[in-house]
Amino acid sequence: METPLTAAEPMLWSGWGDPAKAAELPAPVRDLLAELLGVRAPATPAATFGEVRLPPVTLPPPVLAALAAIAGDGNVRADDDARIRHTRGKSTPDLLLMRAGDASDAPDAVVLPGSHDEVAAVLRVCAEQRVAVVPFGGGTSVVGGLVAARRGFTGVVALDLARLNRLVSVDPVSMIAELEPGLRAPQAEQLLAAHGLTLGHFPQSYEYATLGGFAAARSSGQASAGYGRFDDMVAGMTVATPRGTLELGRAPRSAAGPDLRQVFLGSEGAFGVITSLRLRVRRAPEVRTYEGWRFATFAEGAAAMRRLAQQEAPPPTVLRLSDETETMVGLAKPADLGAAGRDSGCLLVAGFEGSPGDVAHRRDSASAVLVEAGGVHLGPEPGDKWAQGRFSVPYLRDSLLAAGATVETLETACFWSNLPRLYDAVRLALLGALGSPLVMCHISHVYATGASLYFTVVTAQTGDPLGQWAAAKRAANEAIVQAGGTISHHHGVGRDHREAYAAEIGDLGGDILRGIKERLDPAGILNPGVLIP
Ligand SMILES: Cc1cc2nc3c(=O)[nH]c(=O)nc-3n(C[C@H](O)[C@H](O)[C@H](O)COP(=O)(O)OP(=O)(O)OC[C@H]3O[C@@H](n4cnc5c(N)ncnc54)[C@H](O)[C@@H]3O)c2cc1C
Repeated sequence: METPLTAAEPMLWSGWGDPAKAAELPAPVRDLLAELLGVRAPATPAATFGEVRLPPVTLPPPVLAALAAIAGDGNVRADDDARIRHTRGKSTPDLLLMRAGDASDAPDAVVLPGSHDEVAAVLRVCAEQRVAVVPFGGGTSVVGGLVAARRGFTGVVALDLARLNRLVSVDPVSMIAELEPGLRAPQAEQLLAAHGLTLGHFPQSYEYATLGGFAAARSSGQASAGYGRFDDMVAGMTVATPRGTLELGRAPRSAAGPDLRQVFLGSEGAFGVITSLRLRVRRAPEVRTYEGWRFATFAEGAAAMRRLAQQEAPPPTVLRLSDETETMVGLAKPADLGAAGRDSGCLLVAGFEGSPGDVAHRRDSASAVLVEAGGVHLGPEPGDKWAQGRFSVPYLRDSLLAAGATVETLETACFWSNLPRLYDAVRLALLGALGSPLVMCHISHVYATGASLYFTVVTAQTGDPLGQWAAAKRAANEAIVQAGGTISHHHGVGRDHREAYAAEIGDLGGDILRGIKERLDPAGILNPGVLIP
């Protein structure tokens, strides 16, 4: 068993990422936001750590002692620091609440088990004592997946899987590695790199999200066109439930009835705790190259992506198309934002990873398709710029919130024939709900039959930014449901999408999920209030 050499910095408690990378918005950008969107500095400054309001711990001391007897004394924490750092996830509403000093959803305690058996024992105690359990990976959920309903429970514990952080084994013949769920993505890549391997899973939350969270929320990374979604990589898994342990996946494909792995992929901690993952791995690429293409319109760029996704040759590893607004914002220098760049068209980034021969072959084949579809080659600069900045965008959100802008993202997916309708419906809903926001969109996950749409919204904060975003999100969710999209392509359901998910799967679908939940978790302790309609 191998453990990672370095631990990542603890995440900023009130915002995104490594605290050392937090930055203020430059004054010219603040001025521009004021001019274009009417953004003004918020009236109240963000709360300091010492000002955060925590509810009292309600878990009886004997329960805390029983948990400490399982995980070890130092691995059950009820101190303010641990509780605040395990409060909610990292959506914009989550950050706004923390900035306001509101930690009312904090767990009573954080439990850090060190093995599958300890997880199973914690679940047994919590089921007996009616304690709600929130499985906690990197804490990067953006859909309210880390807030358990308290009603009817003695208390709530966050079950932090950080100590389950080993590379258990590598099977180079089958190209499968067994890894534990608490590994953050960079730690997993570091361990695999020592064997010349990679997962190829690079979501924007890469720096902090964990393997368990990727499986539990059906994550999709920026290189999904080449490496696939995370759920495609899961060859097998071990799951601890209050009723016992499941070992799932013993062959690449099976006709032995419904695939029970699918019950736990996307189950968001409501059915069980994933304690080990057998993941398909690839050889680490020798070459990585990214380049830009320009299309006159979003529709033309989308048609080019569809051709690449539907052709027989493998598509690029990374394929990403920004709409006109996102292209304009991405290309412009702050001073140019207002006027210039309106006709900048749409930027498509195509990236290729693999052996030199494979990359050359796929690049030639993709370039021919892109030229034929009307694309203009822009060379490596836009691709390199995207690759260099790909994990820094979330830091910008904190700077924008501090400057008085509301900024949030949402995503959906549908079949190709419906994509223009879905795009228009969500855009119009956001524009209608927010007045005159900046609404940007990109396509970054493509399939032969369809694609996802990822929207970013920036607008001036009102006096009630939480209410302002709640109204916009409601409007967008309704538009997605009505226009035939799925409520989530890769963020998951959590609490925020539960209603729309219920509409998507219907009453019978909801009944099935409740039935599974009752069988696996009769006391209903696992993440109550999340996912299940
Ligand atoms: C800035 C930012 C960028 C993002 N970019 C992307 C992106 O590009 N692609 C993408 O797919 N997502 C993205 N996300 C969303 C988020 O990172 C993913 O949902 C990720 O899969 C969550 O992983 P995590 O380890 O942080 O899980 P957590 O947030 O800790 O948990 C997510 C859910 O899974 C459950 N869970 C966690 N671990 C386990 C386990 N071992 N067993 C059972 N249940 C478990 C939790 O209870 C919760 O319901 C982004 C989020 C942020 C804040």
